[in-house]
Amino acid sequence: MGVRPAVGRRGVLPVVEIVYVVVAVAYDFDLVVLGAGPAGEKGAVQAAYFGKRVAIVEREAEPGGAAVHTGTLPSKTLRETALFLSGYRQRELYGLTVNVNTELAVPRLLSRKNAVRELEVARIRWNLERHGVQSMRGIARFLDSHAVELASLGAAPRRVTSEYFLIATGSKPFQPSNIPFDDEDVDDSDTILMIDRLPKTLIILGGGVIGCEYATMFAAMGVRVTLIDGRDRLLPFLDFEIGERLRGAMNSLGIDLRMSSETKSVKRALGRGIVCALGDGTELVAEKLLFAAGRSGRTEDLDLATIGVPTDKRGNIVVDGDYRTPIPNVYAAGDVIGFPALASTSMEQARVAVCHAFDFSYKRQVSTLLPYGIYTIPEVSCVGLSEEMAKEQKIEVVVGRAFYRDNARGKIIGDKDGVIKLLFDRGTRRLVGCHCIGDRASELVHIGQSAILLAGTVDTFIEMVFNYPTLSELFKYAAYDALGAIGRPFGAGVAGIGS
Ligand SMILES: Cc1cc2nc3c(=O)[nH]c(=O)nc-3n(C[C@H](O)[C@H](O)[C@H](O)COP(=O)(O)OP(=O)(O)OC[C@H]3O[C@@H](n4cnc5c(N)ncnc54)[C@H](O)[C@@H]3O)c2cc1C
Repeated sequence: MGVRPAVGRRGVLPVVEIVYVVVAVAYDFDLVVLGAGPAGEKGAVQAAYFGKRVAIVEREAEPGGAAVHTGTLPSKTLRETALFLSGYRQRELYGLTVNVNTELAVPRLLSRKNAVRELEVARIRWNLERHGVQSMRGIARFLDSHAVELASLGAAPRRVTSEYFLIATGSKPFQPSNIPFDDEDVDDSDTILMIDRLPKTLIILGGGVIGCEYATMFAAMGVRVTLIDGRDRLLPFLDFEIGERLRGAMNSLGIDLRMSSETKSVKRALGRGIVCALGDGTELVAEKLLFAAGRSGRTEDLDLATIGVPTDKRGNIVVDGDYRTPIPNVYAAGDVIGFPALASTSMEQARVAVCHAFDFSYKRQVSTLLPYGIYTIPEVSCVGLSEEMAKEQKIEVVVGRAFYRDNARGKIIGDKDGVIKLLFDRGTRRLVGCHCIGDRASELVHIGQSAILLAGTVDTFIEMVFNYPTLSELFKYAAYDALGAIGRPFGAGVAGIGS
């Protein structure tokens, strides 16, 4: 308020005038990101890139989250180690059966895993530093919607305020109370990477992506694996044919698949090992058991009730299409919001959340066309519609397949079983689905993804010139295969012209 003299009809009168003062609330930061996994790193850097004052809080000594320390990269490093030590890729080429030296396998795995981790941690630190993101250590919990308290061992709690928050605290393995996780031979998807020896036998409960990946890796290293799942089909989101091919490959690796099986109990029986009792009365015994049936949002330390942010029964935060919680300045992204819980999507969600918060007219949605990479042995990857999805959506599709065994590069690398399957809309000739199983599947699928995004048709692949010899060339031959099925061959009118 201010007082100034004013001239009235009867002379100078004191007039009280209200002066509005815009008080900028001085928050410590424009954005504080909780958790330095893939979502946290990318969200923080996105905001800092556009000039915002950003801090990132991490409870662990190193950034990277599950992707670097317990999930994506360590499991993929284990896969490469399994492929290398088992000579899997060379088997077909040289007719070799390589016996894994189990004494050697675990130390090799651990040293590779640690080397990859160190490089990735260094990259993340450098990325945060070069964008001016301030890194803080501590377990964060909300005091109010603009303040968190950071608790860290040996230091006094610290209060940090911010205009916006991005919660990116990830997930942890779901641990039902009837599984004895206190037994050193019962592991979840975090602890399995700390093994000090390869077991001779392993039971895996849960045939999702993580369960299937570990099943094939351990089986390739000579471990006798039994995989138990309550559903009748492995990875039901896969195109049925591709799922069946994967099931065949898993059988060839010697994996005992127990589908439609209910697990009644898991306990240690002295002198026998871990005993898993199934609903039909069967008892399975193994040296180790891996429980890989789901993850839960890591929200228990955040005190979300204080600010009124709800979670579902698995601890996942509920957000809207812009990754905003019901509290307008609090966003959440990555595993902490649940499905699809992938590093790939987590990073994108965080970038979109930050762009929405600060109204950057830059990246406003996560692509609806998501590729899936499943790092089983063999690798599987897909994008777009499966045959079953196309049928449900009443889209008439034409299928084209090309086999690694008929491809020059496929022959060189000795992959006899790989396949690329393309689905084209019969009416528009556009590619609507791409499914790969075999070496490099998770790389190859991006050719299909680009074609779908750019409205590519069967003719696009026929026109393209591919490097030779490459696996990419499989796309051309899958397109020729589809062209024959369409019955309207490109140009000459002869079905199967390119086969
Ligand atoms: C075995 C396995 C294999 C996988 N393979 C793949 C794959 O091949 N491809 C793929 O895309 N994805 C894969 N994933 C999934 C991927 O790892 C996750 O989707 C990804 O790590 C999620 O990133 P995020 O940033 O949301 O969470 P996280 O990576 O979990 O990071 C969260 C971070 O928040 C920190 N944190 C938690 N609570 C607090 C708190 N209160 N205060 C401060 N910090 C906190 C944690 O310490 C952690 O560093 C795999 C996962 C597993 C388990």
